[in-house]
Amino acid sequence: MNKNPILITGAMSSELEILISKLEDSVFKLENSFEIYEGTIKSYPIVILKTKVGVINTAISLTMAIQKYKPIAIINGGTSGSHEYNIHKFDLIIGESVVNINSMKTGVRQLGRGMNPFDWKIQEFHTGAEDELIIYNADKDMVELSEDIQSKYQYGNVYTGRIGSGDVWNREVDRISWLNKNFKTSCEEMESVSIYKLANMFNIPVISFKVISNNEMTGEKFDIETAKACQEFTYEFIKTYINNMN
Ligand code: SAH
Repeated sequence: MNKNPILITGAMSSELEILISKLEDSVFKLENSFEIYEGTIKSYPIVILKTKVGVINTAISLTMAIQKYKPIAIINGGTSGSHEYNIHKFDLIIGESVVNINSMKTGVRQLGRGMNPFDWKIQEFHTGAEDELIIYNADKDMVELSEDIQSKYQYGNVYTGRIGSGDVWNREVDRISWLNKNFKTSCEEMESVSIYKLANMFNIPVISFKVISNNEMTGEKFDIETAKACQEFTYEFIKTYINNMN
């Protein structure tokens, strides 16, 4: 590859198969058990990485891919659970920001006093410094560009919002509402916090597109078909992004 590639990530094969099929001259590689596809779209080099599910798998595989490929941009796509009554299956979230919803410090409770998750503080832990709530941001230009082409998404509404991310699948509606109210989350999933944290650390422009695959508030069950709609939008975005580079 003579130009630094755009890196595309997804957690599961079902979230990547359409994008993989769009790659030209694609070459498959297995790196430390992670699946990677190198190829081109519109003659521009693209690398697709299957991070596997969860923040740890994602941090490991993305660090490896960043060091190997030195990507100029990172685009993540996949499924997520809605945090709003009015955001439904097949709606799409442009991830303007991300909060780590599974990094927490509990309140003090003595033996026999039970537990109360509403007392738990969401914060990230710093080495040798005050712990704090961190909000990670997407690249502003990428957010704007995706908003510009949002009418191309035909499967539902498109919202710009905040992704709650962490290795947790919340099915308690009171907790979901609490996260939405206090941390302004539009949806939740398990990879974006690693992706945004690493991209911000390495100064690489980043964005996540998250399709709603389930909504606990309305009883909409997990539907993996939604992953296809997300990939179609991601593909449109990639083509526009490449056009705009020239
Ligand atoms: N092992 C199963 C399902 C994995 S589900 C399988 O192979 O199909 C976990 C994935 O779904 C994660 O990648 C996460 O990002 C996404 N996800 C979708 N809805 C979610 C929700 N409500 N909460 C958390 N993660 C969700």
